[in-house]
Amino acid sequence: MNETPMRVYAEIDLDAVRDNVRALRARAPRAALMAVVKANAYGHGALQCARAAQEAGAAWLGTATPEEALELRAAGIQGRIMCWLWTPGGPWREAVEADIDVSVSGMWALDEVRAAARAAGRTARIQLKADTGLGRNGCQPADWAALVGAAVAAQAEGTVQVTGVWSHFACADEPGHPSIRLQLDAFRDMLAYAEKEGVDPEVRHIANSPATLTLPESHFDLVRTGLAVYGVSPAPELGTPAELGLRPAMTLRASLA
Ligand SMILES: *Cc1c(COP(=O)(O)O)cnc(C)c1O
Repeated sequence: MNETPMRVYAEIDLDAVRDNVRALRARAPRAALMAVVKANAYGHGALQCARAAQEAGAAWLGTATPEEALELRAAGIQGRIMCWLWTPGGPWREAVEADIDVSVSGMWALDEVRAAARAAGRTARIQLKADTGLGRNGCQPADWAALVGAAVAAQAEGTVQVTGVWSHFACADEPGHPSIRLQLDAFRDMLAYAEKEGVDPEVRHIANSPATLTLPESHFDLVRTGLAVYGVSPAPELGTPAELGLRPAMTLRASLA
């Protein structure tokens, strides 16, 4: 492109992304895979990586912000996309109209998405996020019954469909950390409560890259892998990328002077 060669650049190997997705799917054979492409796919290029991941069988794409998810749709990316980092007043209606699964972690979010669904004349696909100990962006156990009850009622009125129940680990990159067991137990409890109350989620999920690689019982229906998709080891103690069957997708190159 340039007349002069670039002095420094990051080269992205999309074959590595595809191979990593296949390797991760083999590590979690009973679960579907979500490729997390937030933050411009961890700097690797969201659009290109999203397409590569889908080609290798990622059934879901995940982003943090709704704006990131909407950008994928605007670029023509089909299939399931989920986003979770909502703030009050966010683009709920745009997300519902773009057929994006949205995370709901509190009553305020449920209220906003119901209003957006009514305005759009569509049923919103929502995923209830349980805070099982991370202490960030999720419904606390004490508020779970009220949120589940309101979601079931919203489902009956037709504004929402609860497609998922999910959570996030705090320390899955430290195998054996006591919080992992506590979070799994809390997740099972909160999930069981939601199912007892009439939620029938299509996907139940909690595993990030380290949990996908080290904790099969955390796989449930879906694993949400970010780092590992790009061939990065979540922690040195877990092994090198090669030991984990992964290949770094990014190579930094520079001219020597
Ligand atoms: C970033 C993120 C992931 C992916 O985490 P990795 O450790 O990079 O696999 C999964 N779930 C949520 C909610 C995230 O924010």
